[in-house]
Amino acid sequence: MRKTIVEMLKRAGGDFVSGESIAGELKISRTAVWKHIQKLRDNGYEILSRERCGYKLKDAPDLLLPSEIQIGLDTQVVGAEMHYQPSVDSTNHIAKALAYHGAPDGTIVVAEEQTFGKGRRERNFYSPRGKGIWFSVVLRPKILPKDAPQLTLMAAVAIAEALNRFNLKLGIKWPNDLLFDGRKVVGILTEMTGEIGRITYVVVGVGINVNIARDEFPEELRPVAASLSEMSGDEELSRVKIFRAVLEEFDKLYREVNENGFGEILRLWRKHNVTLGKKVRVISAVEGGENFGGTAVDINEDGALVVETTDGKRTVYAGDVSIR
Ligand code: ATP
Repeated sequence: MRKTIVEMLKRAGGDFVSGESIAGELKISRTAVWKHIQKLRDNGYEILSRERCGYKLKDAPDLLLPSEIQIGLDTQVVGAEMHYQPSVDSTNHIAKALAYHGAPDGTIVVAEEQTFGKGRRERNFYSPRGKGIWFSVVLRPKILPKDAPQLTLMAAVAIAEALNRFNLKLGIKWPNDLLFDGRKVVGILTEMTGEIGRITYVVVGVGINVNIARDEFPEELRPVAASLSEMSGDEELSRVKIFRAVLEEFDKLYREVNENGFGEILRLWRKHNVTLGKKVRVISAVEGGENFGGTAVDINEDGALVVETTDGKRTVYAGDVSIR
């Protein structure tokens, strides 16, 4: 309802909209309209009200509120249900709890900040308030558990494609990072819950650094992190517009996977990747596992990385890969 109210106020282009017409459109009372307006104000919308004229939108907040994101959002599955919170420990944590309680395919959890954003293997992901897009998607894909890692590739491709719409070109480092100038702009963490042979749900968590200036990153991240605003000459970017584009590409590719498998994803992944053809060092994901160097030559049909070493070709399903 609040999304429709915001839409009506925006359509009026700075004119007043009567409480009566909003009430009529939504088939609710004028008192109920007033309550929704109050809630929007609490969320940061500046809305003027005048007797006998109605309501007028003065300013919309730069927040990732569903009432903003869902306006003009062209998706079928992803984002049909959205949960917004100003601050969370980790969006993956909330999304997993919602998924456990039956949240539908495509449910989104988005926050302005994460106080304990998670990377792989319990590493921390820096997620400051209002400066990035920190979100998770609940997926219930029609694929086998062995194919779940390819959802990480799908997410990376979706984000690369979405950012291309804004002329922002990021390179995908196998499997889950998007880089600018060798530094990470987007991190992805995919977590799966299921039985042997059957996925119950997958949660894909994404952190996109949007408006973080270079000197705003904590000192230890400065050599390894970058943001989209840095890529655009320190211009402040609209998180709402970028988030909409990301959800749209995500939705499109997710439907493609459910209908036709991962062929198209792997093709697009190769197009956006910066790993193939490079000398790499691989540290196995298995505790105490091996560590070897070689040249990354391809990804196979499972999305695993094929590395040519002096002892022949080796296939890497999970691990840390650094490009040298
Ligand atoms: P790596 O980036 O070291 O190859 P990874 O791909 O597994 O590892 P994650 O575990 O997904 O990375 O993310 C955690 C790591 O990302 C941290 O160890 C830190 O180096 C880096 N990092 C943390 N916050 C950010 C951020 N906001 N932007 C970019 N990099 C970050």
